[in-house]
Amino acid sequence: MKQYDYLIVGSGLFGSVFAHEATKHGKKCLVIDKRSHLGGNIYCEDIEGITVHKYGAHIFHTNDKRVWTYVNDLVEFNRYTNSPVANYYGELYNLPFNMNTFNKMWGVVTPEEARAKIEEQKKQVTGEPKNLEEQAISLIGYDIYKKLIKGYTEKQWGRECKDLPAFIIKRLPVRFTYDNNYFNDRFQGIPEGGYTQIVEKLLEDIPVLIGVSLQEYQTANAARTADEQDSWDRLLYTGMIDEYYHYRLGTLEYRSLRFETEELPEEDNYQGNAVVNYTEREVPYTRIIEHKHFEFQTGEGTVITREYPTTWKKGDEPYYPINDEKNGALYAQYAELAKKEANVLFGGRLGQYKYYDMDKVIRSALDMVKEELAR
Ligand code: UDP
Repeated sequence: MKQYDYLIVGSGLFGSVFAHEATKHGKKCLVIDKRSHLGGNIYCEDIEGITVHKYGAHIFHTNDKRVWTYVNDLVEFNRYTNSPVANYYGELYNLPFNMNTFNKMWGVVTPEEARAKIEEQKKQVTGEPKNLEEQAISLIGYDIYKKLIKGYTEKQWGRECKDLPAFIIKRLPVRFTYDNNYFNDRFQGIPEGGYTQIVEKLLEDIPVLIGVSLQEYQTANAARTADEQDSWDRLLYTGMIDEYYHYRLGTLEYRSLRFETEELPEEDNYQGNAVVNYTEREVPYTRIIEHKHFEFQTGEGTVITREYPTTWKKGDEPYYPINDEKNGALYAQYAELAKKEANVLFGGRLGQYKYYDMDKVIRSALDMVKEELAR
């Protein structure tokens, strides 16, 4: 008899949901995380009464009723609706691309006028869009591409829009209504007091070791006497799949981020919005987050975070998988290795090398547990 049914590596959303559900169904789980805190990238910290999203802004949005109910059973969500503003050399535009944006850009008033303008500007792209630049121009025309997409995207991904896959830009809605809601999903909000409590609730009765990588844990475990050693049936790995295999087939690429957080005790309202994107190339950060606006706080002082995209190298935190052809092909090879594993599972953004939103992570963890329980 093994001591644990599952050893779960990573206490982010995927690992925590899996651990919680498996435990609920009578499985024994142990969760380990190499960071000094729970929650992976949804971890939040309280600074002077303001909830700070330590690893970048997280706004929960979903169309999946079951996932929405799931998270609302754990914590209380507020009514936050993401409506970022783009700043291009001091000109301000509403996002996502909607009638407010078109009106400011071109002076057009009706949806028909806006469509006509876009039609005229997208003529330069013929045939099926082959890359992000062509996709963007054919969706919203050249002016918006130039002012609101090109610089931001090239900073974000560290490469030319001509060399990026079209699908990235399809994440953003284009709307012919005066609606600044960044997402199309039915449900949206932010947990009051931040995201960490979600994971704390999920892992409430489950043993968790923090500050321990898988390798450190295995080394320490192997050094114990045989009857003191931990043992488990199956391993769920939510870290980088290529790291698990010691990069034996090559290294998958990621984009990373560097955050510069500043406390401004003398300032009560720095930018009037939670998220302001800086879309010109020359400003080195992509956005400034003013955390208090995520929870409609109006008290004294504020905390802001500048977000700088960076090239990822081994040892850095990976944030975004780069889902281009080259990395896709390499991931497929790792996925083949994974398929042959009898007792190792991979999950989440890093384990599956996928640009997952939070709701999709929860959904896929729920699906995986269901499959596991049916074994
Ligand atoms: N994007 C842009 N201008 C903006 C905001 C987003 O061009 O002001 C593009 C950019 O290519 C980015 C993509 O849209 O990578 C997806 O943006 P999203 O806000 O979904 O990114 P995330 O919040 O996941 O970083």
